[in-house]
Amino acid sequence: MVELKYTPLDEIDKIRTSLHAGFQTGKSKSLAYRKYQLLQLGHLLKENRARFVEAIHADMGRPVFETEFYEITGALTDITAAVKSLSSWAKPETSPFNFNWFAMRPRAHKVPKGVVLVITPFNYPVWLVVEPLIGALAAGCAVCLKPSESAAATSALWTELLPKYLDPDLVRVVNGAVPETTRLLELQWDHISYTGSGAVGRIVASAAAKHLTPVTLELGGKSPVIVDASADPALAARRVLLGRFVNAGQTCVSPDYVLVVKGIKDRFLQEVRKSYAAFTAASGDPSSKSGLAPTTFSHLIHSRAYARISGMLEKTRGKVIAGGERDEKENFVGLTVVEGVEKEDALMGEEIFGPVLPILEVEHVDEAIKFINGGDRPLALYVFANDKKVKDKVRNETISGTMAFNEVVIQLGAPGLPFGGTGASGYGYHRGKYGFDAFTHVRTEMDSPAFIDKILWWRFPPYTDAKLRAMLRMMKDGLPAKPKGPPRLDGASEGGWRKWAVVLLAVTAAAAAVKRARN
Ligand code: NAD
Repeated sequence: MVELKYTPLDEIDKIRTSLHAGFQTGKSKSLAYRKYQLLQLGHLLKENRARFVEAIHADMGRPVFETEFYEITGALTDITAAVKSLSSWAKPETSPFNFNWFAMRPRAHKVPKGVVLVITPFNYPVWLVVEPLIGALAAGCAVCLKPSESAAATSALWTELLPKYLDPDLVRVVNGAVPETTRLLELQWDHISYTGSGAVGRIVASAAAKHLTPVTLELGGKSPVIVDASADPALAARRVLLGRFVNAGQTCVSPDYVLVVKGIKDRFLQEVRKSYAAFTAASGDPSSKSGLAPTTFSHLIHSRAYARISGMLEKTRGKVIAGGERDEKENFVGLTVVEGVEKEDALMGEEIFGPVLPILEVEHVDEAIKFINGGDRPLALYVFANDKKVKDKVRNETISGTMAFNEVVIQLGAPGLPFGGTGASGYGYHRGKYGFDAFTHVRTEMDSPAFIDKILWWRFPPYTDAKLRAMLRMMKDGLPAKPKGPPRLDGASEGGWRKWAVVLLAVTAAAAAVKRARN
């Protein structure tokens, strides 16, 4: 296990002061310099990808495939998109043309918020560092990064590489655990981005409130899966199980539990067993556990995580229908499927964040929706269904950070779209322009020529009736007519049948006129 050197507490204030001085030089205001920094970040990753793969393997035994697919390729694509789009994201917005205002040249400039703090978790220690870094560097901020102490090897690698590739006046790393993060949170920052658990998210938000610092909170929670009677049971089983398999379930949007509709349950369970057998087929490695060789399946990050998941498995009243292996020495829990789980089960309390998948039976989709709406707003909600009405129903009657139909996890990778939670799963967004916006202050300005006082002569005191009339003549609101009543909510358009009756009458009259003319 790699030992991570923690930053001495008295260094932390100095780091913030030096970042402040770096930001004040103004170099990060230059778009060319921001693009240079983004490119440097991309090349840091590209030139050292094998070392990142190794570091993550040292931290959690993660297979190369997963690190490449779920972290590095996505991070590189997003850096490329940021370099290409930065100029358009950063363009000032002009006010829509208005005769009263245009001469004052009103516009909104995108300015960096300033010196920002980015705190990241262990589970995707590349992607979740890169995404907020893209937003902050693109916006022109100076960044203090506090990576997870639990992913010690990866955090040590970031600490070594960042000063070699990025401007140390603008990017610094602080390493440590609770005391170091607590010290960081006592200082004033211009934005804080926190990714991690809801419990710590609350600590971060409270600390930020003392300085009125804006915060992005990317949190977790239980992400449910609904398997409807109209679903393809084989496809649902294969994809849901994959979502739980990846990184041994230590994924913020991993399917946390399945609500399967009674009518399809048996077929779904049968397919789950089949997919389990396929995923864990012996890899040829004699040390493999259920075929889950060290190059195929991650272990849990530390002994606390192992104890937590083991505790849940010991307490569950459900029946293990696949997997169930554990090895305390290696913090290893194999992919485990538990069936016949009730709503009050030990597996249904907090986010599992491990490779255990509980399956609950529901009578119908309405029961699943009610159950989901009775809990915290999820970071991701998954629906396996082929019936469009079911898809629309779940979309309309629930809320979640993200949503995917007949898919899991990879909805986060779709280019150009934001990633963020709602309610207990967090607030604010990362990725693309949304990430840029998070670290950007939109500063409205105008530059008013002297002659404006000839036009707005009436704004200066003393106020008179003539000035009031002149002002009201100019400041017309243009509000559309008052509605006759509330709009129809049943999807039918206002006066729809009347419109068609008029069209019909017109066509009939025209046809009659043509007939008359011919006669
Ligand atoms: P964590 O909250 O334990 O740690 C994350 C960061 O918080 C670390 O840098 C850690 O040093 C710091 N920290 C821990 N305790 C602290 C304290 N008392 N005061 C101040 N800072 C503290 O989270 P984790 O275990 O690394 O990550 C798991 C959680 O993160 C899960 O809930 C998961 O769903 C969530 N997550 C969310 C996203 C997302 O994008 N929404 C992504 C990944 C993980």
